[in-house]
Amino acid sequence: MRLHFLRRLSRMPPVVKKFDYLVIGGGSGGVASARRAAEFKDGSLKIGIIEHGRWGGTCVNVGCVPKKVMFMAASHAEHLPDYKDYGFDVERKAFDWSIIKKSRDNYIKRLNKIYEENMLSKVERIFGHATVTDDKCIEVNGQKYSADHILIATGGSPIVPDIPGAEHGITSDGFFELEDLPKKTVVVGAGYIAVELAGILNALGSDTSIMIRYDKVLRTFDSMVSAAVTENLEEAGVKVLRKTQTKLVTKEADGTLTLETSGGQITGVTCLIWAIGRIPSTKFGVEKLGVQMDSKGHIIVDEFQNTSAKGIYALGDVCGKFLLTPVAIAAGRRLVHRLFNNEKDLKLAYENIATVVFSHPPVGTVGMTEEEAVKEFGEDKIKIYKTVFTPMYYAVTQRKSKCAMKMVCLLPQEKVIGLHLVGDGVDEMMQGFAVAVKMGATKKNFDDTVAIHPTSSEELVTLR
Ligand SMILES: Cc1cc2nc3c(=O)[nH]c(=O)nc-3n(C[C@H](O)[C@H](O)[C@H](O)COP(=O)(O)OP(=O)(O)OC[C@H]3O[C@@H](n4cnc5c(N)ncnc54)[C@H](O)[C@@H]3O)c2cc1C
Repeated sequence: MRLHFLRRLSRMPPVVKKFDYLVIGGGSGGVASARRAAEFKDGSLKIGIIEHGRWGGTCVNVGCVPKKVMFMAASHAEHLPDYKDYGFDVERKAFDWSIIKKSRDNYIKRLNKIYEENMLSKVERIFGHATVTDDKCIEVNGQKYSADHILIATGGSPIVPDIPGAEHGITSDGFFELEDLPKKTVVVGAGYIAVELAGILNALGSDTSIMIRYDKVLRTFDSMVSAAVTENLEEAGVKVLRKTQTKLVTKEADGTLTLETSGGQITGVTCLIWAIGRIPSTKFGVEKLGVQMDSKGHIIVDEFQNTSAKGIYALGDVCGKFLLTPVAIAAGRRLVHRLFNNEKDLKLAYENIATVVFSHPPVGTVGMTEEEAVKEFGEDKIKIYKTVFTPMYYAVTQRKSKCAMKMVCLLPQEKVIGLHLVGDGVDEMMQGFAVAVKMGATKKNFDDTVAIHPTSSEELVTLR
């Protein structure tokens, strides 16, 4: 009888399963951190990672990756009219959204598998929704887990406004589920996601408007970028609905949407996209861990990604600072170097993080905006170099697109503390120049670098 009981007991799962490192969220930051941790202490660390959705998180499934595929599709559409100027007998007859959607989805499925398999044997994958229990454990599908070190890397999700009929709109997540190119789209929002989605849809042939609360998009970027991107959107045919807000959305019998806005009525909308920001995913009992959050629900961390609770860390979008994949990855890796590889002072420096907006043409930026630099150091300490030119690609085309560049320098050495670029190719140009800015290069260092001719990037080493 006793033997039978002991046998049954041995088959029961332990009440709480213990790890050395437990990661909640299998997105950019979480996966990178868990995988790197598996390399330390001769692979002896017990590591678990919990995910309730698709492996790879926002970036792989509904963010950077599918967005970039669509940006590239849109770039083809944008350049098609130029082909005849280069001597090709090509005309745009049709565009089949379903072809690119299918290849894109297949590519992402391959990436999901790679993400999952990369963790095999090194990290225990736990599939399900994590919640925090009253005794500060993490519970998934009825099994409790605990760890000496717990990382919260749960990212965020898009905001839908609290207005009547808002549910008839979609978010960036829904954009990636669209089976067809919408006939008439209204994108609400002025941030980079709104700008990118509006640019893609417009280039591919949707009648596109972008609705913004103020008079320009990308208002947190350098004023030159903000003005140039707003102008470029309009030049490409996007209607910029300035100082406009939606009050009510109605679905009509024919399936189209009517928007009542502060600027009047918009009818016949086949796709309404809310791109008005993101909220952190913290509603799974995070507060029970004793972790402090700000008024928007972002987890508050110090420069080492420590939360206010001992042994609990957070990074990436859930912290609300630099919502970018490489930021989450870099913070996740540095954290485990510090925790498990004796690199006690290692932390991510959040200055001079380069970023690109995949608008048409794209934006590349690193460091301080002119406005930030003037505010921090005073106008007399800042010197600005600027140029606007038409890239050589357009020398023989009827369609023209300009390139604008701004360099923000700190006097007296003219240290380059900000670079802001808008134009074809700057998305690939920015990374190298970001190294120079990060290393503290001066204007003279730029000037001492012999130009690569003929390119657009040579302008940056010949600014006058
Ligand atoms: C449309 C769009 C375009 C973007 N483009 C770019 C770009 O071009 N370049 C760039 O650098 N960044 C881009 N980003 C931002 C980038 O995707 C994010 O910054 C990045 O994914 C953040 O990584 P993370 O690890 O913090 O969160 P995520 O990648 O979001 O991962 C969080 C994971 O946690 C899981 N999770 C949440 N709660 C729980 C729970 N309770 N239990 C279990 N699992 C949970 C989620 O399912 C998710 O998989 C884009 C974002 C969007 C929306």
